[in-house]
Amino acid sequence: MEMLNPAIVDIGPEGLSLPCTASGPQLGLEEPEDKFDGPLAIQLELSQQEGRISVAGTLEGTAIRQCVRCLADYTEPLMVSVYAEYLPQAGMAAKSTSAEQGRRSSRRDSQPVEPEEEADEEDELYWYQGDHLDLVPMLREQVILAAPMQPICRESCLGLCPQCGQNLNERPCGCPPAQPPSPFRVLRGRGDKGGNA
Ligand SMILES: [Zn+2]
Ligand SMILES: [Zn+2]
Repeated sequence: MEMLNPAIVDIGPEGLSLPCTASGPQLGLEEPEDKFDGPLAIQLELSQQEGRISVAGTLEGTAIRQCVRCLADYTEPLMVSVYAEYLPQAGMAAKSTSAEQGRRSSRRDSQPVEPEEEADEEDELYWYQGDHLDLVPMLREQVILAAPMQPICRESCLGLCPQCGQNLNERPCGCPPAQPPSPFRVLRGRGDKGGNA
């Protein structure tokens, strides 16, 4: 992804606009965890001040998620606000190389942790080295962070029957309700006498 690997010299005082599209795999977002319907549209504005590079923009697309209740795939609009700051990494070579780019395992480990940094600031702080900025790991991370922990296809999803596995959104299965017998329920049922006819 050349567009997502801009040369530092191209980021002048007036900034640099980066409109581009990328597929999930191009950002190192691989199935089965990360699935997308179509490409991701990326719009970033970069600006530089004395070596400190700010990146702000959006990443949009359509995510395919699996509902934790009914296990069905569903699509969901993906809209991620991107904000990051890059600082030049002084001296020593980073272990991250182009061979490692795009690998999920390199999510965080190319960034040395600065213990003095405030935690919330650290989240948006990245490091660059050499004369190019690699935006891919940052974008990958922001997409991962934007994913829901418990994706649900809709609030009213009925899920699967715990007994027969039928997707109850499609049709009821007729299994008896899986509630534990309750003595109170029995008593109340007797008192009712079914006067609702
Ligand atoms: Zn569902
Ligand atoms: Zn059932």
